[in-house]
Amino acid sequence: MCSLFLQGDDGLDIVQELQDAGFARVIVLDGAECGVPDVGSLVLALWPYAAERTPMTGEAWVHPYYFASQAAYVAADNIARRHSGDGVIWREDIRLKPIFARLPGFAQGRNTISSLSGCGSRFHVQMLTVTPAMAPTHHLEAEEHPLRCGDCHLCERACPTNALEGGVFHRERCLRNWQVGGTVYPEEVRRQMGTRLIGCDECQRCCPHNPAPEGENAPMPVTLEEIMRSPKEAAVALRRHIGATVTMPNRLLMGACIIAGVTGRRDLIPHLWRHAGSPSAAVAEHAGWALMELGVRYIPPEEPEIP
Ligand code: SF4
Ligand code: SF4
Repeated sequence: MCSLFLQGDDGLDIVQELQDAGFARVIVLDGAECGVPDVGSLVLALWPYAAERTPMTGEAWVHPYYFASQAAYVAADNIARRHSGDGVIWREDIRLKPIFARLPGFAQGRNTISSLSGCGSRFHVQMLTVTPAMAPTHHLEAEEHPLRCGDCHLCERACPTNALEGGVFHRERCLRNWQVGGTVYPEEVRRQMGTRLIGCDECQRCCPHNPAPEGENAPMPVTLEEIMRSPKEAAVALRRHIGATVTMPNRLLMGACIIAGVTGRRDLIPHLWRHAGSPSAAVAEHAGWALMELGVRYIPPEEPEIP
């Protein structure tokens, strides 16, 4: 677990409340300095998470970031609701990368992810704005920090889909882009899915700024079989742990079909057969492809004759 240090209690209740709720570091910035002149302060609250090994066989895997972001969201949203009469607002519409680029201790890497000196990149950030202004804990620096990479190119080589080729982020190749996108995955991306249902860790795990994974992966709240049998119920069950944005039933189902195909889950063939006839063209495409990967050719039932 990253050892982000705690901000000292300087008498600001909101800072203390965020710390008490589980945020490891709370940073108070001047709103105008961060490009949000209509508020007094921008508060960044960091929630770290432990690295996990990614299983390459068996059940689907969700990156620990998504569990952390949901827990952090619930905590921050509760505090914002409690203090809505005090000028505290939960925000998700402020771009963080330009702020991290000038915040002391932070810098971006070639993997496009911001990291904190001595701690790495395994944290999630929640944002609150507070008006009137609080005393800032930090000020942004005048210039953006250079990449924190030197001659290292490990993440470029580690990416399974070559999405960081040439030091440029090719979004259309990144696994995460397709997992949250809801459209038909390119075949070359499907073949690199492994068991990754949501999220991918390769470009963080190889980074020398991050500690190595310490433990096995956390148990997945739903199984591949459950996703395939009843996608809506599985989505509801998963939503409690990782939120609604990444748990649309058909998106989960498409990912589950691909994982079944690339990991050789022949026990799921009856489910794949059913979904190959799905009214959703995207689901049908992934289920049919997975059947082919498992050596089964899907033959659609004949249209009934209409007298
Ligand atoms: S998240 Fe995975 S697929 Fe995306 S750039 Fe990083 S290593 Fe590549
Ligand atoms: S793996 Fe190397 S190149 Fe990639 S972000 Fe980390 S330090 Fe930079």
